[in-house]
Amino acid sequence: MSLIVTHRPSPNFNARKAPVSILVLHYTGMETGEAAIERLCDPEAGVSAHYVVEEDGAVLQLVAESDRAWHAGMGAWAGRKDVNSASIGIEIVNGGHEFGLPAFAAAQIESVIALSRDILSRHPIAPDGVIGHSDMAPDRKQDPGERFPWARLAAAGVGLWPAADAPCAIVDDVGSALKAIGYPVGAAISVDQAVMAFQRRFRTSRIDGVADAETRARIGQVFAAYRH
Ligand SMILES: [Zn+2]
Repeated sequence: MSLIVTHRPSPNFNARKAPVSILVLHYTGMETGEAAIERLCDPEAGVSAHYVVEEDGAVLQLVAESDRAWHAGMGAWAGRKDVNSASIGIEIVNGGHEFGLPAFAAAQIESVIALSRDILSRHPIAPDGVIGHSDMAPDRKQDPGERFPWARLAAAGVGLWPAADAPCAIVDDVGSALKAIGYPVGAAISVDQAVMAFQRRFRTSRIDGVADAETRARIGQVFAAYRH
């Protein structure tokens, strides 16, 4: 599909301090797209993203890719702590958990894929650098949520999704394996919190932070597929 981008500049950005290596996907988590866009452009709110994808698939650009948008906040991925400096952020209009976790519209996902492919063609972001906000901030964030179609994106070349019969590494220590994948397990983030974020992304049938046999096997598959 062709990608039409409408400019809606936000004042909320500053200079990058690192090259781009991560793509962070979010949901807006507000009642309407317009409310979210207003907030992302409000200097008082102090938040932004490079792009917003609306429910009908319309794409808005708020911040230039060369600048540092303010979407990630506290957290880390694969040892990178200033995720805003190292990433491009896409906000996907969706009410999220607070508004009943509505399904993502097909047209919206098609635009997210087209936009992501466009971004990946212009920046050295490895497949394992495509993450959800909850992956880099498991203690604070749940977005884009367990209804987000990661497998569909991976099938289109955006991010990794090991198949059900993919090779599986043996996981002795769950915390170490999640850390090796990129999760910020450490002083501020417990293994249980990281397991919950992992389940929200890769094993959505039960999101309880318990590393059961199925979760451990899935961690082994993702560990085998990820190369930082
Ligand atoms: Zn977010």
